[in-house]
Amino acid sequence: MRHFAIVGSGPAGFYTAEALAKAYGDQARIDIIDRYPVPYGLIRFGVAPDHQSLKAVSKRYDQVAEGEQVSFIGNVAVGCDVSADELRGLYDAVILAIGAPHDRKLGIPGEELPGVVGSAEFVGWYNGHPDFPDLAPPLGGTHAAVIGNGNVALDCARILSKNHHEFEGSDIVGHALEALDKSEIQTITILGRRGPHQISMPPKELGELGHLEGATPDVDGADFPPVEADETLEPGHRKSITILREFAATGPDASKTKKIVFDFFAKPIRIEGEGKAERIIVERTLLDESGAAKGTGETYEVPASLIVTSIGYQTPRIDGVPYNERGGKFANDKGRIGDGLYAVGWARRGPTGTIGTNRPDGYEVAEQVAAAMPPGSDGAKAGGGGLVALLDERGIKRTSFDDWRSIEAAEVAAARPGSPREKFVRHQDWLKVLGHS
Ligand code: NAP
Repeated sequence: MRHFAIVGSGPAGFYTAEALAKAYGDQARIDIIDRYPVPYGLIRFGVAPDHQSLKAVSKRYDQVAEGEQVSFIGNVAVGCDVSADELRGLYDAVILAIGAPHDRKLGIPGEELPGVVGSAEFVGWYNGHPDFPDLAPPLGGTHAAVIGNGNVALDCARILSKNHHEFEGSDIVGHALEALDKSEIQTITILGRRGPHQISMPPKELGELGHLEGATPDVDGADFPPVEADETLEPGHRKSITILREFAATGPDASKTKKIVFDFFAKPIRIEGEGKAERIIVERTLLDESGAAKGTGETYEVPASLIVTSIGYQTPRIDGVPYNERGGKFANDKGRIGDGLYAVGWARRGPTGTIGTNRPDGYEVAEQVAAAMPPGSDGAKAGGGGLVALLDERGIKRTSFDDWRSIEAAEVAAARPGSPREKFVRHQDWLKVLGHS
């Protein structure tokens, strides 16, 4: 028998559990540990609330969690309630699947001003993350800016521009919907430090901007290279560029009151305002031979009282686990950190790829584990029994998958009409459902 602990219950954690369960059959016990009382990580707290079809993948994770050899142990923070070293003492292998939930910083003056929020915070706010219910992003001004040209920037801009009933069928949390209803924002500028060819926005999500009820994309055709240059692009990416070119050719729809402006070749250099963000100073850029953004010295200002920085994420450190500073992830070799210690998903490779990318990633690490301790071999670790004893001794109230089912049922029962659920947002609300407080 082997005992495995997977830390983190997002896609990377669940795919690794699935792979280990397949490789070891009944010769392993797999505990999926999460700091929150509820599972699914990025699926619950990251994937946009108006993209419910993407969230449906959690049904597959349910099947994994319901497997005989798998247990969910929620409300346990590794590095706080229990250390990584303690887990290594209890399990044959510990696999860190904690994602990259912290915002990377721009490192420019004014970034600390009120009104500047990271996308992890902003997304967490509208997705019911327990750390951000009180974020209160300022929505009372007419201008907002989103910094970055990735998919998360697109999510943030879309959420800021939707009308109330465009959230029907979504599970955006009530406090965010209420605040967005009162939003005065009319112009959302998406700032990219490079050009249209360098965006990381898939065609499906980009295309959605063309079908918003009250908002219209505004793209400047002068930002594009000659159309022949698109031939060199990979087909999916070319499709995105074609959509952007169409937006530029059509021009903004004058019947719509809100605008999503794509401002390319614009590198933020400073955020200014009297005690709060009021504008971003950006420098016009050119691409150098390597494709990097090079400042031209020409600057201008973009008004914005809400500024969402969406420039990528970092994995938090855990005491005793080597860290790759530059990559913002755990130091690892193809997922292996050290004896019996592994990383998967964004904690392994940094914040890139889609949900599906985590499947081969998890399977590859599971193969490494199986090579180091072949199925059928025995270890001498205490496993989940030992962890539960330690948590009980420390008075940590853990949650099980059945507990999650109770929370899920209560969230579904609390849903507003047309919404799949009303997520509970605070620790005490989850624990109240379970009679723990
Ligand atoms: P991302 O795709 O890496 O985009 C980060 C953006 O920030 C890039 O445009 C980058 O520009 C820019 N940036 C970085 N540092 C900057 C700086 N100092 N100043 C200005 N701009 C800066 O990251 P993401 O949007 O956070 O997405 C993370 C991952 O999640 C991606 O793999 C994404 O595809 C995935 N995701 C998928 C979905 C979906 O499948 N629907 C939804 C959301 C996210 P440069 O290119 O110039 O570096």
